[in-house]
Amino acid sequence: MSDPLIIVGSGMAGLGLARQVRARDARRAITLITADSGADYSKPLLSTGFAKGMPPERLAMRSPIDVADAFQMTMRTHTRVDGIDPRTQTLSIGAERLPYGELVLATGAAPSPPFTVADEVRDRVCTINDLDDYRDFYAALSRRPQGARVAIVGAGLVGCEFADDLLAGGHRVALVAPEAAPLARLLPPALGRVLGEAMHDAGIDMRLGRTVASLQRDGETVALALDDGETLPADLVLIATGLAPRTALADTAGLAVSEAGIQTDRYLATAQPDIHALGDCACVAGLNAMYVQPLQASAKALAATLTGTPTPVAYGAWPVLVKTPSCPVVALPPRQTPARWRIEGEGDDLSALAEDENGHLLGFALTGACVRRKVELARAAPPLLP
Ligand code: FAD
Repeated sequence: MSDPLIIVGSGMAGLGLARQVRARDARRAITLITADSGADYSKPLLSTGFAKGMPPERLAMRSPIDVADAFQMTMRTHTRVDGIDPRTQTLSIGAERLPYGELVLATGAAPSPPFTVADEVRDRVCTINDLDDYRDFYAALSRRPQGARVAIVGAGLVGCEFADDLLAGGHRVALVAPEAAPLARLLPPALGRVLGEAMHDAGIDMRLGRTVASLQRDGETVALALDDGETLPADLVLIATGLAPRTALADTAGLAVSEAGIQTDRYLATAQPDIHALGDCACVAGLNAMYVQPLQASAKALAATLTGTPTPVAYGAWPVLVKTPSCPVVALPPRQTPARWRIEGEGDDLSALAEDENGHLLGFALTGACVRRKVELARAAPPLLP
């Protein structure tokens, strides 16, 4: 029997690819190796779970045993791949050497805190980037009395979504970030301010334009010293300062990597024959979108390629829906700097259209009732990867 297709990673990219390959080829030998528990879950639901009091076991749609059974593949969980030798087509897992026929890296992206967390506060400082993290944070919250004080550092999509969700779950939330308004990478300042005000009005203690100078233990709590001299007490601190593509494994194979991820072409191929990459770890033709629709399109295209029909991936004009019920937000950030943002609407209901010098639509951002315009505007906007 030939060496199997090996997929590294059991996130939405790795499992999505396994599903697509199996749909096209009932007999192909597939092995999926993952450093985590291998449960099938939807990562976007992690930041909607606290409002519903959703225990982690209810977020897992299928156990790894059920997943392996459904896709007729071998699954190795809690197993970290340490290295790749493309010359001998083998993976190293500790002292073990495992041959592969074709290899797909779906290693995702990891939180990248901007400061070192001292040992004295480590048990109170968390990130939530997978179901295992959610389980730990859920357990830590359950040990606090109702209404724990949670300080969130970072006002990007993940920080804002958890702030709204934890507030709705009955906790006292503060949000600290250096930017003047939330979602600075997705929204022009006027719309960011609308979201920031809505979050403040909902009851979130917004500490914008501030950075965390230090985190110190203060009995049972953590004291966040801010750069303006204020101190914020918290029972738990959630760091949401962005994700960096996991490229260390690709590095061991000498693949081209950058801060944006493992470099691939439209076929999700790296420069090494028989090694592909997709999902948050991959920078596809210069773009690492880091959200679900692009990785689903990649899984579909790559499955076709791996089963004998070489297929380049294309991404449509797919806006991001931010899950902040205190103020709904939809955004399709422009890929180039716009000549202007044309802002329409009033109050919380704003549309911002990013245009080039000829008035062509490059992207958009919507708040409040204007999120209704997402379909109409997405039709008029250029695709992310034509
Ligand atoms: P991951 O889910 O990170 O999976 C990586 C896998 O690789 C893991 O199984 C890990 O264990 C494994 N791995 C890594 N290194 C190794 C190794 N050396 N050996 C073995 N295994 C390894 N996107 C949207 O489109 N809409 C949303 O509403 C949305 N909400 C989100 C909310 C939150 C809170 C977060 C964090 C993200 C959200 N996203 C959303 C983004 C989206 O969820 C991600 O783009 C997507 O889940 C990434 O999937 P992935 O499989 O590439 O990576």
